[in-house]
Amino acid sequence: MSARYRIAVIPGDGIGREVVPEGLRCLRRAAETHDFALDVVEFDFASAAYWERHGTMLPGDWQPTLEAFDAIYFGAVGWPAVVPDHVSLWGSLLRFRRVFDQYVNLRPVRLLPGVRGPLAGRAPGDVDFVVVRENTEGEYSSVGGRVFEGTEREIVLQETVMTRHGVDRVLRFAFEYARGREARHLTSATKSNGIAISMPYWDERVEAVGRDYPDVDRDKYHIDALAAHFVLNPDRFDVVVASNLFGDILSDLGPACTGTLGIAPSANINPERRYPSLFEPVHGSAPDIAGRGIANPIGQIWCGAMMLEHLGEPDAAAALLSAVEAVLAGPADALTPDLGGAGTTTQLGTAIAARVGSTT
Ligand code: ATP
Ligand code: MG
Repeated sequence: MSARYRIAVIPGDGIGREVVPEGLRCLRRAAETHDFALDVVEFDFASAAYWERHGTMLPGDWQPTLEAFDAIYFGAVGWPAVVPDHVSLWGSLLRFRRVFDQYVNLRPVRLLPGVRGPLAGRAPGDVDFVVVRENTEGEYSSVGGRVFEGTEREIVLQETVMTRHGVDRVLRFAFEYARGREARHLTSATKSNGIAISMPYWDERVEAVGRDYPDVDRDKYHIDALAAHFVLNPDRFDVVVASNLFGDILSDLGPACTGTLGIAPSANINPERRYPSLFEPVHGSAPDIAGRGIANPIGQIWCGAMMLEHLGEPDAAAALLSAVEAVLAGPADALTPDLGGAGTTTQLGTAIAARVGSTT
């Protein structure tokens, strides 16, 4: 019997509603060609339209509803003309992350053929790494406050919170992930020369957890140098693990180096699979181009590949990515304007779907 996966689809706002159908087109094609089935249920919540009708971003029973699925395939949320960004974000995506304990944020950085960007002169194989960001604690804590507020003596404090549990689990995920890749190399982002308490602890835990992974080579860079090497020597990296703040910065820098925002995917993962993981492109709802049918669907399609990999369909995931690469390497007319073409979202999605399963 072939496998069957339940997928909750949340298109959200703006170009999310335009690129998600293209992602689904490609996923369905991957299912047909790789002998598995997808049960897809689409939801209209986590959107400005839902907010306008209900005054909230999510229904009361969102948690049990989404928990019944194997994964969440997400477009983009945010439509500031209707609902302020902090309300829409905290009222949906950030709640999913927290309640579903998606403590790993995974962002592949890979140079694809035909995509212009700061690193475009390099061979595609030169740039192929992944950023593993801690997604729940670290620098983004709300511990702290102001003292003597409004006076000349004003003092502002904000603590970094690292727990053994929180640090070890993301490191373990990163080492396991590195173990599954050919290069078996892990780079840790640190700043223990300047941040004298939390970052030495991070380094210490990398050493401690790393002892269980003698087959994975490891090195570490201070975050400032690491950022420079992303641009100057991207071929040094395979799996890069970082705290919440450093990971946030690196996971935007990486895709920026390899070209348009429109191609970059990300996954918010609960590695224990106690809760569904969520797959979303790095880009937002892009109000400036929404409704024109010109958004690049590749970020959303690549998210589909990450989702299939997570669900245990690596061959189908690889087929999706090969189809993306084949179309990117082909004539530019099918490509969207951000890639230098004059094609539409649907044309590019259809061209990629047609190649799924037909490339080697
Ligand atoms: P966020 O919602 O995460 O805060 P943002 O509002 O800063 O994101 P986006 O909505 O991602 O940014 O858009 C940033 C720019 O990139 C916009 O000019 C947008 O048109 C462009 N862009 C984003 N995604 C795509 C895409 N898939 N295809 C083409 N252009 C895109
Ligand atoms: Mg936005």
